[in-house]
Formats: sequence, structure tokens, C-alpha cells
Amino acid sequence: MDAAWMDLGYVVSAALFIFGLKKLGHPRTAPLGNTYGAFGMLVAVVTTIVKMGVDGGIHWALIASGLLIGAAIGWVMAVRVEMTGMPEMVALFNGFGGAASALVAMSETWRWLEDSATIPAAGLELQVAVLAAGLSALVGWVTLTGSLLAMFKLKGGFKLLWVGPWIKTPTWGPSWLNGVKVLLLMSVFAMIGLQLAEPTNTSLMWGVIAVSCVIGVVLVLPIGGADMPVVVSLLNSLSGIAAAFTGIIIGNSVLIVAGSLVGASGLILTFIMCKAMNRTLANVLFTSFGGSDKETVTRTKVGSDPDEVAMLLDGAQKVIIVPGYGMAVSQCQHQVKEFADLLTEKFDTEVKYAIHPVAGRMPGHMNVLLAEANVPYEQLIEMDEINGEFPEADVALVIGANDTTNPAARGDVGPLAGMPILDVDLARTVVIVKRSLSVGYAGVDNDLFYMDKSMMLYGDGKKMMTDLNNAIKEL
Ligand code: NDP
Repeated sequence: MDAAWMDLGYVVSAALFIFGLKKLGHPRTAPLGNTYGAFGMLVAVVTTIVKMGVDGGIHWALIASGLLIGAAIGWVMAVRVEMTGMPEMVALFNGFGGAASALVAMSETWRWLEDSATIPAAGLELQVAVLAAGLSALVGWVTLTGSLLAMFKLKGGFKLLWVGPWIKTPTWGPSWLNGVKVLLLMSVFAMIGLQLAEPTNTSLMWGVIAVSCVIGVVLVLPIGGADMPVVVSLLNSLSGIAAAFTGIIIGNSVLIVAGSLVGASGLILTFIMCKAMNRTLANVLFTSFGGSDKETVTRTKVGSDPDEVAMLLDGAQKVIIVPGYGMAVSQCQHQVKEFADLLTEKFDTEVKYAIHPVAGRMPGHMNVLLAEANVPYEQLIEMDEINGEFPEADVALVIGANDTTNPAARGDVGPLAGMPILDVDLARTVVIVKRSLSVGYAGVDNDLFYMDKSMMLYGDGKKMMTDLNNAIKEL
């Protein structure tokens, strides 16, 4: 097949990625954007396989077994994953993406050892190849170990090793760890520099891999609490950057384009998250020390019941629904939508949804759940816009949200310090649906629960919302 046809295949797939990204910019067009992206990837894979066949370097058995094993694992994981386990799965896949890129780059440099004829011509070509291989290894292995650690942090630790409970959020990290990070990074750059003179030195190659793995761990270890969303999206971006470097080494233009798009869009998301969390990236990566263990809740608060809340809602003119991670856990988005419909139909209440940028466990988590329940996008109001409306709301109904409503974030200390929150405490009455008074992801007790204007509806989100809907219907 003519090389021009293959280039055309790559151009088509790159164009599909770009159109796909554009469509991902709005929840309504996002499913189409996803389809564009998947189709673009299919075109890229088919073009590459055809290209390899034409070049005569294809190993069909290896390709087929890789596709089969990968597809089987992906299928089982996607089918079995709970909605609440999605963020951990995304973190794991980010890590695998980084490792895959680093392994491809490594196999390419490995060929230089076995066949010196494959070493790029001395001079600029060789320097670019060595630099790209080193950077791909650095970014790829950092992404793997950092993402694995992020996954365990999102899971809340792991039981296997004695270090397990220590890994869990919130954070750990003495201030000298920043110095260690800088030293490790400098040593990797020094080894890559030495490789420029000795491209086939395997000790340097293993050295870069080992130190990069450690950097991933020390980078993510101290980060927790409100900063985790930033680190997850940064790791996503790094997996793309690693792919772009690998594309340079193997001379694959579509890998460079796709990797750059993932890297750039991930970085943009990282900065959006930083802005939402009122942090700078440097602040997240280098100063998020000093988090304490989860606070033990010692205070008590008597719970209310659905009938009492239904009567309160009878007279409400404006209600703001504040969803959080607990809505995802209990999967009560359909009951929440039914609740909003009931209020509008029965009492002619104005109902809006307040969306915090880091509510849940992944960017856009609440939007995805509420879209699944067919909540109109116009009713989903971003934090900055809705905050001004809380003082005129008769009721703020908080469903499984905690950190994103915690007034402790307005202070200067603790894992939530500085994070902008939804000002639910300004509403006339606050109703909070959750199972207990226990803390949220950042481990900080929430004063909101103990305010005189707050009513606790203790129980699983789905059960409580069903009971509340029944109580409203009976009025
Ligand atoms: P939180 O994690 O602060 O709190 C969730 C609350 O939900 C818990 O206090 C829990 O209380 C309650 N809950 C759990 N299960 C149920 C259930 N079945 N029914 C009812 N309630 C339930 O949630 P927020 O959404 O307010 O905050 C998100 C946090 O996650 C932030 O700290 C953010 O930084 C962090 N994060 C966000 C990411 C993102 O990209 N969005 C990524 C990583 C971390 P109880 O046990 O009493 O029921």
C-alpha cells in the first residue's frame, strides 16, 4: 500500500481525536466525542498494523494474543467495576498507559544493544532519540508508581502490607522530602545526560527506571485530602506526555499527536482543578504536608425523619440540592431526580443542583450521575454561580456531600484549608442525608452538621431519598 494512504489514515485519526476532544467539552455532546475518540483510535491501530505488514515486520501471533488478552482483561474490569470504583480504575489505567509507553521506548533502545546497526546516526538524531527514551522512561515510570499509589489512596489504603494503613489519605511527609524529590530528579537528568555519551550503557538505563519509580512514590505520598483530584489529573497528563516521547523514538506521528493531546488536555484540566481548589500546582506538589489522621468524631446530633423533612419542604419556595460522593455510593441519582420533580409538580418549588468541581471522586462525577438520571443540564449550576443563591434558598438538601460543604475549609489549617466550598450553611435550613456523622475523604469533622439550622437524615442515600419521596407523596 502506498505510504501516502497510511499518512492519510494517521491524519484522519488525529482529526477524529481533535473533534472528539472538542465534543467532550460539553456533557450533552460528550458521548459523541467519546465515539469519535474510540473510532480515531481504531483507525490509528488498523493503519499501524497495515504499515507494519507492509514493512514486513509484523508478528501476527503476538499482536493477536496481545489484543485478546488486553481486551479480555479490559472487558472483565469494565463489567465488574462499581460506579464508585471508577476513579481507582482510571488511576490504574493512567499508570498502565505510562508503563506501556516506557516499555515500548525501552524495547526500542534495547535493540541498540543487540544490533548496533539500529542505533540512530551519531549527532542530532542520536541525541534526540536518547533524550526522548530517557524522558519517556522518567515520565512513564513516574506515572506508573504514582498512579498505583494514587489508586491505593483513593481506595483508602490497603491491607496487604504493614504500610497499608499508612499510605491512606490524609497525608504524610516531612519537609525534607521536597529536597529528596529535587535530588532524585536531578540524578535522573544527570543519568540521561551521561547516556547521551553512552547510549548503550544498561546500568544508566536501569538507574533511570529505578529512580523514576521512586520519584513517583515520593511525589504522590504526601498528597491527600483536597489535593488528590489535582494529582490524578496530572498523572493522566503525564501518561500522554510519556506516549508522545515514545512516538518520537519509534517515529510514529499519530502517537506523538495523541500523546500531546492527552498531555495538553490533562494539563489544562490540572490547572482548572488547581484553580477550583484555590491552589497552585507547585503548592500541591511541594507544600501539601502536615495533614493529620482522620479526625475522630465525638460530638452527637439527634437525627430527623422523612415525614418531618417533607413537611418542611411543603412550604419551601426554593430548594438547592447538593450532591456528593455518598450519592455515587448509594446510586440514588434517580431518586434525587424524582424528588426534584415531586417538589416542582406538587409545591411549585424552584429546584437547582449545586455542583462542586471536586465532588465525588473524579472530575465531572456528579454531572455524569445526574445526566444518567436525565436531570436537565440547565439545572446543574457550578459552584461560583450558585453560591450567591444559598442565602435565598429555603432548604439546601445535602446528599452524601461532606468536604465540599465543610466550613473548616474557610480556615488556614488542615487538609481542607483554602478549598472553596459550597456555602450551604447560608441557606435557611440545611437537610443532610448520610449514614452517620463520620468524616469525608479529607478526614475533617464538619461543623455544618451541628448547626441549629441543620437536620440530619441518617441512612443510606437511596433508602432515605425513597422514604422522603414517599413522605412527600403522602402529604
Ligand atoms: P466526601 O468524600 O467528603 O464525603 C462523602 C460522604 O458521603 C461521607 O461523609 C459519607 O458519610 C457519605 N456516604 C458514603 N456512603 C453513603 C451512602 N451510601 N449513603 C449516604 N451517604 C453516604 O464527599 P464530597 O463529594 O463532599 O467531597 C469529595 C472529596 O473527595 C473531596 O475531599 C475531594 O478533594 C476528594 N477527591 C475528589 C476527586 C475528584 O476528582 N472529584 C478525586 C479524589 C479525591 P457516612 O459514612 O456518614 O454516610
